[in-house]
Amino acid sequence: MTAFVVEHQCPQCGAPAQLQEADRLIRCPFCRVGSYLSTPGSFRYILPDKAPEDTDLIWFPYWRLKGMLFNCTTDGIEKRFVDVSYQAIAFPDVPISLGLRSQTQKLRFALPDTGGTFLKPQISPEQSIKQAMTQFQSTAKELLHQQYIGETLSLIYAPFYYKKRLYDGLLNEPVAAADCDTEIRLDNLSSDPPDWRLEFTATICPACGWDLDGSGDSLILTCPNCQKVWQPEKTTIKQVRAAHQPVEQKNDIIYLPFWRINALVSGVALESYADLVRLANLPRTIQPGWDTKPFYFWSPAFKIRPQKFINVASGITLAQPEGPWKSIPPKGNLYPVNLPVTEAAQTMKLAVAFFLKPKQKLASLLPGIQTKPRSFVLVYLPFRKGPHELINDQLKLAFSKNMLAMAHNL
Ligand SMILES: [Zn+2]
Ligand SMILES: [Zn+2]
Repeated sequence: MTAFVVEHQCPQCGAPAQLQEADRLIRCPFCRVGSYLSTPGSFRYILPDKAPEDTDLIWFPYWRLKGMLFNCTTDGIEKRFVDVSYQAIAFPDVPISLGLRSQTQKLRFALPDTGGTFLKPQISPEQSIKQAMTQFQSTAKELLHQQYIGETLSLIYAPFYYKKRLYDGLLNEPVAAADCDTEIRLDNLSSDPPDWRLEFTATICPACGWDLDGSGDSLILTCPNCQKVWQPEKTTIKQVRAAHQPVEQKNDIIYLPFWRINALVSGVALESYADLVRLANLPRTIQPGWDTKPFYFWSPAFKIRPQKFINVASGITLAQPEGPWKSIPPKGNLYPVNLPVTEAAQTMKLAVAFFLKPKQKLASLLPGIQTKPRSFVLVYLPFRKGPHELINDQLKLAFSKNMLAMAHNL
């Protein structure tokens, strides 16, 4: 797994700074101003080049995908982590992927003053995701459902230039795959004017003007003053409903964030707790009132490796935690939210595949199941800090600290 470093400048004071790939919240160490980074469309980065000075660079686009891929077969759910790049233009003359380049190089944002010719992508992000799904499809068993869960794709441009033949500008070496028709093929490609911009939104509470809390790759900002929770989206900021389960003993507690999603499910009955008991064939006798007790999907609101992710999402969904909640975020130690609710919502069908019983029903039921989120709440659940794990005794759920530390690169 890889994570690249991006070099940029503070929009307020111009000080040089380095970001991790997933960082969206930036607090400049010099001027202390906090801002949230966004861009219309995809984030676009360039690799550095070693081309001779004054060379006209040709920037070739690659889609970068990083996420989880789940293959549901009659045998169960296969999980894998995907970290790949694909050509955003089908062009035989340049390498088919970035290989290991993006992790060993420092990237910069592609901006209007970058210079050179930016080739226009011809392959859509959706087509790239399709390519990954095909590449990592399991062939052994009948595929009932496949789901890619990952962030919005970014574009990474690799430098090339043409001087009697095609050169790789990163290595400053001729490209082996190029031939005498390369120039003609290059001339046929259209370019994009590099008029992309980055937007920096100040991290100020829209309700009370206070400086919001949040750092690095967190997608959620909390106001320490009015206790409201915010989610920046492109250039705006939206309020998010949040809640937490209060604890008496606050020492050594860390709150982990989860999305609780109310969804419309079609293809099977899954509206109430009674429906869940029947669908998952839980060893419980249905009690009066369970038919009207609403059912919710649960998902971690943070990244963990795919194997653990679906187990946790299904496990909490089966447990249906009930609170009591306080409808504000907790004070104290909060684990950052770095998995958006849009991605969490994509796990709902996987959770059904995970707990549906008996398994023989999967093949006939799963393809027809559809889930559509109606509303959601960000719920913080308390975990006590063990020597190696974070533990919630009520849910019998534990996360190894080591695994969480590694997960920031996912
Ligand atoms: Zn600054
Ligand atoms: Zn506030």
